[in-house]
Amino acid sequence: MTAREEITAYIGLGANLGDPAQALRDALVQLGSTPGVRLLQASSFYRSAPIDSTGPDYINAVAQIATTLSAPDLLTALQAIERAAGRVRPYRNAPRTLDLDLLLYGHARIASPALTVPHPRMDDRAFVLLPLREVLPGLVEDRALQAIAGQAIERLG
Ligand code: ATP
Ligand code: CA
Ligand code: CA
Repeated sequence: MTAREEITAYIGLGANLGDPAQALRDALVQLGSTPGVRLLQASSFYRSAPIDSTGPDYINAVAQIATTLSAPDLLTALQAIERAAGRVRPYRNAPRTLDLDLLLYGHARIASPALTVPHPRMDDRAFVLLPLREVLPGLVEDRALQAIAGQAIERLG
Protein backbone atom coordinates (compact mmCIF):
# COMPACT_ATOMS: atom_id res chain seq x y z
CA MET A 1 0.00 0.00 0.00
CA THR A 2 1.32 3.44 -0.87
CA ALA A 3 1.90 5.66 2.14
CA ARG A 4 -0.52 8.55 2.36
CA GLU A 5 0.96 11.96 1.80
CA GLU A 6 1.65 14.07 4.89
CA ILE A 7 -0.63 17.06 5.38
CA THR A 8 0.30 20.06 7.52
CA ALA A 9 -2.45 20.84 10.00
CA TYR A 10 -2.95 23.33 12.84
CA ILE A 11 -4.56 22.47 16.16
CA GLY A 12 -5.91 25.02 18.64
CA LEU A 13 -5.44 23.99 22.27
CA GLY A 14 -7.31 25.51 25.20
CA ALA A 15 -8.06 24.73 28.84
CA ASN A 16 -9.34 26.59 31.90
CA LEU A 17 -9.90 23.95 34.59
CA GLY A 18 -7.44 22.11 36.80
CA ASP A 19 -3.85 22.94 35.79
CA PRO A 20 -4.44 24.24 32.26
CA ALA A 21 -0.78 24.83 31.33
CA GLN A 22 0.08 21.27 32.36
CA ALA A 23 -2.93 19.99 30.43
CA LEU A 24 -1.62 21.72 27.30
CA ARG A 25 1.91 20.37 27.81
CA ASP A 26 0.51 16.84 28.25
CA ALA A 27 -1.71 17.24 25.19
CA LEU A 28 1.26 18.30 23.05
CA VAL A 29 3.15 15.17 24.13
CA GLN A 30 0.14 12.98 23.39
CA LEU A 31 -0.43 14.67 20.05
CA GLY A 32 3.20 14.02 19.09
CA SER A 33 2.96 10.36 20.09
CA THR A 34 -0.28 9.73 18.17
CA PRO A 35 0.37 7.28 15.31
CA GLY A 36 0.32 9.19 12.03
CA VAL A 37 1.03 12.54 13.69
CA ARG A 38 4.34 14.43 13.96
CA LEU A 39 4.50 17.55 16.11
CA LEU A 40 6.39 20.17 14.12
CA GLN A 41 6.01 23.29 16.26
CA ALA A 42 4.09 24.64 19.22
CA SER A 43 3.39 28.33 19.81
CA SER A 44 3.93 30.17 23.07
CA PHE A 45 1.22 29.78 25.66
CA TYR A 46 -1.28 32.63 26.07
CA ARG A 47 -3.63 33.54 28.90
CA SER A 48 -7.04 34.81 27.80
CA ALA A 49 -10.25 35.86 29.50
CA PRO A 50 -13.24 33.60 28.76
CA ILE A 51 -15.36 34.78 25.79
CA ASP A 52 -19.01 33.63 25.65
CA SER A 53 -18.01 31.46 28.57
CA THR A 54 -17.45 31.49 32.31
CA GLY A 55 -14.86 30.37 34.81
CA PRO A 56 -11.13 30.96 35.18
CA ASP A 57 -8.91 32.40 32.45
CA TYR A 58 -7.94 30.10 29.62
CA ILE A 59 -4.48 28.98 28.59
CA ASN A 60 -4.28 28.68 24.80
CA ALA A 61 -1.73 27.62 22.20
CA VAL A 62 -1.56 26.38 18.61
CA ALA A 63 0.34 23.34 17.38
CA GLN A 64 1.60 22.74 13.86
CA ILE A 65 1.61 19.06 12.95
CA ALA A 66 2.31 16.88 9.93
CA THR A 67 -0.15 14.03 9.64
CA THR A 68 -1.02 11.07 7.46
CA LEU A 69 -4.43 10.79 9.16
CA SER A 70 -7.53 11.91 7.29
CA ALA A 71 -9.24 14.97 8.78
CA PRO A 72 -12.07 12.91 10.37
CA ASP A 73 -9.54 10.44 11.82
CA LEU A 74 -7.50 13.36 13.15
CA LEU A 75 -10.62 14.80 14.84
CA THR A 76 -11.28 11.38 16.41
CA ALA A 77 -7.70 11.29 17.71
CA LEU A 78 -8.09 14.82 19.14
CA GLN A 79 -11.32 13.83 20.89
CA ALA A 80 -9.60 10.76 22.42
CA ILE A 81 -6.91 13.05 23.87
CA GLU A 82 -9.63 15.38 25.22
CA ARG A 83 -11.43 12.45 26.85
CA ALA A 84 -8.19 11.20 28.42
CA ALA A 85 -7.80 14.67 29.96
CA GLY A 86 -11.26 14.36 31.53
CA ARG A 87 -13.19 16.58 29.10
CA VAL A 88 -16.92 16.61 29.68
CA ARG A 89 -19.48 18.73 27.82
CA PRO A 90 -22.23 19.63 30.33
CA TYR A 91 -23.35 22.62 28.21
CA ARG A 92 -22.12 24.77 25.32
CA ASN A 93 -18.95 26.80 26.07
CA ALA A 94 -18.64 25.19 29.50
CA PRO A 95 -15.27 25.48 31.27
CA ARG A 96 -13.04 22.61 30.16
CA THR A 97 -9.97 20.60 31.13
CA LEU A 98 -8.90 20.44 27.47
CA ASP A 99 -10.25 21.56 24.10
CA LEU A 100 -8.54 20.60 20.85
CA ASP A 101 -9.92 22.22 17.69
CA LEU A 102 -8.83 21.39 14.17
CA LEU A 103 -8.17 24.85 12.75
CA LEU A 104 -6.64 24.10 9.34
CA TYR A 105 -5.98 20.85 7.47
CA GLY A 106 -3.73 21.66 4.53
CA HIS A 107 -5.82 23.76 2.17
CA ALA A 108 -8.90 21.60 2.68
CA ARG A 109 -12.36 23.06 3.03
CA ILE A 110 -14.64 20.65 4.84
CA ALA A 111 -18.30 21.10 5.76
CA SER A 112 -19.71 17.92 7.24
CA PRO A 113 -22.03 17.65 10.25
CA ALA A 114 -19.15 16.68 12.57
CA LEU A 115 -16.35 18.75 11.08
CA THR A 116 -15.98 22.22 9.59
CA VAL A 117 -12.53 23.28 8.37
CA PRO A 118 -11.17 25.93 8.46
CA HIS A 119 -12.60 26.26 11.97
CA PRO A 120 -15.57 28.61 11.46
CA ARG A 121 -14.89 30.87 14.47
CA MET A 122 -11.10 31.10 14.37
CA ASP A 123 -11.00 34.57 12.76
CA ASP A 124 -13.01 36.04 15.67
CA ARG A 125 -10.60 34.84 18.33
CA ALA A 126 -7.40 36.48 19.48
CA PHE A 127 -6.56 33.31 21.41
CA VAL A 128 -6.40 31.48 18.07
CA LEU A 129 -4.93 34.13 15.76
CA LEU A 130 -2.06 35.29 17.99
CA PRO A 131 -0.58 31.81 18.59
CA LEU A 132 -1.38 30.75 15.01
CA ARG A 133 0.67 33.55 13.51
CA GLU A 134 3.70 32.36 15.52
CA VAL A 135 3.67 28.96 13.81
CA LEU A 136 2.21 30.10 10.47
CA PRO A 137 3.65 33.52 9.69
CA GLY A 138 1.98 35.34 6.83
CA LEU A 139 -1.49 33.85 7.12
CA VAL A 140 -3.00 36.20 9.67
CA GLU A 141 -3.41 39.65 8.16
CA ASP A 142 -3.00 42.89 10.11
CA ARG A 143 -6.65 43.64 9.39
CA ALA A 144 -7.69 40.43 11.14
CA LEU A 145 -5.53 41.32 14.14
CA GLN A 146 -7.06 44.80 14.36
CA ALA A 147 -10.51 43.25 14.47
CA ILE A 148 -9.67 41.27 17.61
CA ALA A 149 -7.41 43.89 19.22
CA GLY A 150 -9.87 44.58 22.08
CA GLN A 151 -9.79 41.04 23.45
CA ALA A 152 -8.01 40.50 26.76
CA ILE A 153 -5.03 38.23 26.13
CA GLU A 154 -1.44 38.04 27.32
CA ARG A 155 1.48 36.04 25.95
CA LEU A 156 3.18 34.05 28.68
CA GLY A 157 6.98 33.93 28.86
P1 ATP B 1 -16.07 26.08 19.27
O1 ATP B 1 -16.24 25.10 18.14
O2 ATP B 1 -16.87 27.34 19.12
O3 ATP B 1 -14.62 26.36 19.58
P2 ATP B 1 -16.16 24.13 21.39
O4 ATP B 1 -14.74 23.87 21.01
O5 ATP B 1 -16.46 24.39 22.82
O6 ATP B 1 -16.71 25.38 20.54
P3 ATP B 1 -16.93 21.42 21.31
O7 ATP B 1 -17.98 21.07 22.32
O8 ATP B 1 -15.50 21.10 21.66
O9 ATP B 1 -17.08 22.94 20.90
O10 ATP B 1 -17.22 20.70 19.94
C1 ATP B 1 -18.51 20.53 19.43
C2 ATP B 1 -18.44 19.78 18.10
O11 ATP B 1 -17.80 20.58 17.11
C3 ATP B 1 -17.65 18.51 18.11
O12 ATP B 1 -18.44 17.43 18.49
C4 ATP B 1 -17.15 18.38 16.66
O13 ATP B 1 -17.83 17.36 15.96
C5 ATP B 1 -17.54 19.70 16.04
N1 ATP B 1 -16.54 20.31 15.16
C6 ATP B 1 -16.83 20.83 13.93
N2 ATP B 1 -15.75 21.33 13.34
C7 ATP B 1 -14.71 21.14 14.22
C8 ATP B 1 -13.32 21.45 14.15
N3 ATP B 1 -12.79 22.06 13.08
N4 ATP B 1 -12.54 21.10 15.21
C9 ATP B 1 -13.09 20.48 16.30
N5 ATP B 1 -14.41 20.16 16.41
C10 ATP B 1 -15.21 20.49 15.38
CA1 CA C 1 -13.03 25.42 20.78
CA1 CA D 1 -13.72 21.89 20.43
